[in-house]
Amino acid sequence: MAKDLENEARDRALARIRAARARSAGGVDAWMEQLLTGDRTALAQAISLVESTLPEDRHIAEQLMERASKRAGKALRYGITGVPGVGKSTWIEAAGLHLIEQGHQVAVLAVDPSSSRTGGSLLGDKTRMSTLARHDQAFVRPSPSGRALGGVAEATSEIALLCEACGFDRILIETVGVGQSETEVRRMTDVFLLLLIPGAGDGIQGIKRGILEWADAVWVNKADGETARMEAAQSALGVYRAALALLAPPSEGAPPLFGAGSSLDAGQVAHWVDRLEGRLEEAAISGSLERRRSRQMRDSLDSLLARESLERVRRHPRFAEAWTRLQDEALHAQIPPYEKVRRLLDSLD
Ligand code: GDP
Repeated sequence: MAKDLENEARDRALARIRAARARSAGGVDAWMEQLLTGDRTALAQAISLVESTLPEDRHIAEQLMERASKRAGKALRYGITGVPGVGKSTWIEAAGLHLIEQGHQVAVLAVDPSSSRTGGSLLGDKTRMSTLARHDQAFVRPSPSGRALGGVAEATSEIALLCEACGFDRILIETVGVGQSETEVRRMTDVFLLLLIPGAGDGIQGIKRGILEWADAVWVNKADGETARMEAAQSALGVYRAALALLAPPSEGAPPLFGAGSSLDAGQVAHWVDRLEGRLEEAAISGSLERRRSRQMRDSLDSLLARESLERVRRHPRFAEAWTRLQDEALHAQIPPYEKVRRLLDSLD
């Protein structure tokens, strides 16, 4: 049964890629024109190419990206993270519907590295955010499952650009924080929101160290129902606030927003979104948004360069042999690791 569904999904993806290739025969410029008018089919097919694992599709995808990036940059991007079950999709659905009410067009994307390794997914289930997904001012897309060139986060960042070119001016990017995904999503968003739940054990429930430092806003969710749960939310909020007070103040921008609330209460989420929008507006006026984006761009280039350089070294025709030799030598000789690596790199020159 699961196999049938898998095959069906694969067939659909292949059909989309075939349709995208057929569209590319009409010229990338014509395609881009359609995308700029907000044509969702043109967008979905462009995304299929960006997600494709085939290097030959990459060529057209890059041409589309180049054109799209000239039209992008005006949208605001939200990053949302939290452990599975914390309430991310509930929060995003309420936030997305509120942003639409305010006249925006909302795209929801996901970065879920677990989907490339296991085929399963911690995010991106089709039944999630069903009201928002059906709305004609919204576009909800599950996480890409990785591709030959670049990873899930790079694909998502490119998809965000295509969505911007198609007219979406609020992009909400969700992640479960597996591997590096929190850092990567923070690096592509203008505001980064951490969702927590009260009363989950040790206070800093499964949250990686450092995440509180990166968050622009912390929302303790599920502060509703019984009094005990409300109190737990308030006390969790106190713990996080105290933890944050011990950390260095942010070098730029406002200190993080803190709050406890219920994602089931659309009014509460809407109020919170308005506050985030207010902060984004201030950041745009003061220039700190622009500076954050330039910093993000530099950091992304830096980490891409590091990763691509490493890949290039590993693909070198003499690498496998040199690597085996280095490991053998390591057993016999007392050479410092740095010296070994330097010798290996020198031997590839
Ligand atoms: P995600 O895995 O982080 O996306 O979590 P979901 O949004 O799917 O929520 C997980 C479960 O928690 C669902 O049954 C939601 O209805 C419920 N939930 C989400 N937010 C709240 C909240 O604020 N209060 C309560 N009581 N339940 C919530």
